[in-house]
Amino acid sequence: MASNLHFLLIPLMCPGHLIPMVDMAKLIAQQSVAVTIVITPRNVQRYGSVLNRAIASGLPIRIRKLRFPASESGLPEECESLDDLPSFSLSKNFFEASAKLQQPLEEVFGELKPRPSCIISDKHLAWTADVARKHQIPWVIFDGMSCFTQLSTHNLFVSKIHEKMADSEPFILPGLPDSIVMTKSQLPELFNPGNSTQAKEMKTIIEHIRATELGAYGTVLNSFEELERRYIDEYKKLKHGRVWCIGPFSQSNKNDLDKAQRGSKDSINEHDCMKWLDSQHPGSVIYACLGSLSLLTPPQFIELALGLEESGFPFILVVKGRSRAEEIEKWLAEDGFEERVKGQGVLVRGWAPQVLILSHPAVGAFLTHCGWNSTIEGFCAGVPMITWPQFTDQFFNERVVVEVVGTGVAVGAQTVMHYGEDDAARIQVKREDVCKVAKIIMDEGREAEERRQKAKYFSEMAGKVIEEAGSSQLNLKLFIEDIMLHTNKGLAA
Ligand code: UDP
Repeated sequence: MASNLHFLLIPLMCPGHLIPMVDMAKLIAQQSVAVTIVITPRNVQRYGSVLNRAIASGLPIRIRKLRFPASESGLPEECESLDDLPSFSLSKNFFEASAKLQQPLEEVFGELKPRPSCIISDKHLAWTADVARKHQIPWVIFDGMSCFTQLSTHNLFVSKIHEKMADSEPFILPGLPDSIVMTKSQLPELFNPGNSTQAKEMKTIIEHIRATELGAYGTVLNSFEELERRYIDEYKKLKHGRVWCIGPFSQSNKNDLDKAQRGSKDSINEHDCMKWLDSQHPGSVIYACLGSLSLLTPPQFIELALGLEESGFPFILVVKGRSRAEEIEKWLAEDGFEERVKGQGVLVRGWAPQVLILSHPAVGAFLTHCGWNSTIEGFCAGVPMITWPQFTDQFFNERVVVEVVGTGVAVGAQTVMHYGEDDAARIQVKREDVCKVAKIIMDEGREAEERRQKAKYFSEMAGKVIEEAGSSQLNLKLFIEDIMLHTNKGLAA
């Protein structure tokens, strides 16, 4: 179809951004478009098996390895992904290191054959706009967020309504198709920056990203029309139609090996976990995972663990202690939690094969932090969700799950956790809240059953949209056609 086209994909080195880019590379290459993905050596180790299998299957994907300048930017040598940061206080250094990839990329650009027809870059890498401008090709941004978030962000940016509000004063998000109430303290950093130096530094970075993103040629999104159509329609109006919803990306992983190795690190106890799921009743297990960058403090983790135990339901709990893992391990050992819940629950330390777990019939609910990838993976799995947002766009996504789509129940988190403030020993959600919501979501009554039916419906939709006549397949073709027309016009000029 498009053998002269070549898309250059530049991801932000962070699981929530790299995983969907890898999926996207496969989806685009399946349309006979050559794809080059720019990635750093340790991330090649991490994501290479999935990419190499796609390449071996005949997909026209190439990997362009660039060294990540970690030590020059004040980061530990091995640190090539945001989830490797010893502390989020180093986020600024990480973004600076990412920007230093510009020169090496410029140096190899001429070697990329055929000449790239466009750049699809993570929107957080604003410097990639310069590369595209210099080579006069479209700069398309991949935004790993929902259209609901896009539209809400735009409207808040324009209306500035939040500036007149006290932190915990509820207000209706302006200009949305539904009446959605939030507070300023639930908004992302751009509107609610926090007080720490790091949080303020992040706000400056995000403002620069926002200003650059306005000049993008178009946006591709990991969403689908049947999920948030009214929001997509509104957003398209603002962006002259150049918004292509081509998700859900996770659906590009057809076999168990791809699902298991998606974003994987070596520390998975995947087989034990899957074997345990095999022994559980269908729809009985709560899978709890708060993403790759969880900011849960040890006291908050303890409340989550005890709440799951108290609920009595079988569960899988993913433990991500980050810099405070030792404290969590100490509590686990001293409290005897793991021993006590043997038979009821399984702890997964490190990286969980999330999409594989979610696809298991024993899973009946997903307790999620509402990162957009996890949220959309929850929709694909067709399970109701318990929502526990923490930061960035996650409170927006909670509204999508609970109010727009209606397949979840909020656990009751009230305010975002700011970068650099992750050391506070705060407890937002108590064990009784976790236990209560678990019982609501796993209930056998009418309301819970309706939620389950709705979840099943959206899961079926998520499968259909990527089939030949589905909306996301069509949008992907329209996107490629648009770039083809643009390229041909450029050649004719
Ligand atoms: N993920 C996973 N195993 C883990 C943690 C995360 O497979 O132990 C995957 C998850 O399936 C999702 C991504 O990592 O695709 C996380 O992205 P998301 O947007 O949900 O949240 P973030 O980690 O960026 O906060």
